[in-house]
Amino acid sequence: MNPLILDGRKVAQSVKDNLKVQINELKSHGITPKLATILVGNDEASKTYVQMKANTCHKLGMESERVFLPEETTTEELLDVINRLNNDDQVHGILLQHPVPSHIDERLAFDTIALEKDVDGVTSHGFGATTFQLGAYPCCTPAAILQVIDFYNIELEGKHAVVIGRSPILGKPVSMMLLNRNATVTICHSKTENLDEVVRQADIVVAAVGRPKFVKGEWLKEGAIVLDAGYNPGNIGDCDYDTCYPKSSAITPVPGGIGPVTISMLLKHTVEAAQTQLNVSKKQTNVS
Ligand code: NAP
Repeated sequence: MNPLILDGRKVAQSVKDNLKVQINELKSHGITPKLATILVGNDEASKTYVQMKANTCHKLGMESERVFLPEETTTEELLDVINRLNNDDQVHGILLQHPVPSHIDERLAFDTIALEKDVDGVTSHGFGATTFQLGAYPCCTPAAILQVIDFYNIELEGKHAVVIGRSPILGKPVSMMLLNRNATVTICHSKTENLDEVVRQADIVVAAVGRPKFVKGEWLKEGAIVLDAGYNPGNIGDCDYDTCYPKSSAITPVPGGIGPVTISMLLKHTVEAAQTQLNVSKKQTNVS
């Protein structure tokens, strides 16, 4: 039987259809969800990502504010911008585009974002709260992977998930999220020995390596589910699709897999942040 192709565009559309209803509801209460994006420097790929996020916001009837800062921006200047956005009631979500120039303290900048506006799940507090299931917004690509899993009713409980990659925005948080859903999780990285043998034990493989066509079909157990978060130049995933496809029972293509769902998760979190603000103001009205 041919493997199921996990169609990220279809998943993203279903998320956006739900969001449109929720955005209209918020607007009827006088709130338009707004995402602020900050881009420091002139990285062309980052400019494209920020533009794509703003375009998707507008298509759904949300607002966006884009802050462009020059390459020579200092950490203090960046923190000032983040603090201004933290204090702006019209802004519900803040995204600091990664990477920032190397002279900036990126961790400090991320951790300055108010937890309730951390819709990209980049703060240390957000990671901790996601891990402990305390209601923070998870990083968007891990959230997109879970969204695809849920859309296609993929069983996680008791399954062995092997995650290749341990970055703060992808490998680590997705591992915690899979663990929280009762998968048995193995996290691999550049120092892992006998990676192919570890991957061969997986029911579910999450590739988050940043190396084109890195995971080979011969590494897979027959019928494994392959979730490829990779996005390398030339629209190439971290898995070698041609060899992984025939061994898998379900697989995400690149492009058209995890990528399209990621932006919709960012907007979903921003809408949820706006809903939280509405609920808080309703409670305050009831108290006064
Ligand atoms: P990253 O920060 O470079 O992390 C890569 C991870 O892969 C690291 O943990 C690294 O291990 C591990 N790794 C590198 N070489 C390895 C090897 N030979 N064997 C085993 N592990 C190895 O990358 P990232 O930001 O997590 O991104 C990963 C991929 O996802 C990239 O293709 C990126 O473009 C893509 N991505 C996609 C989206 C989306 O929206 N779809 C969003 C973000 C990222 P060490 O920790 O030991 O160095």
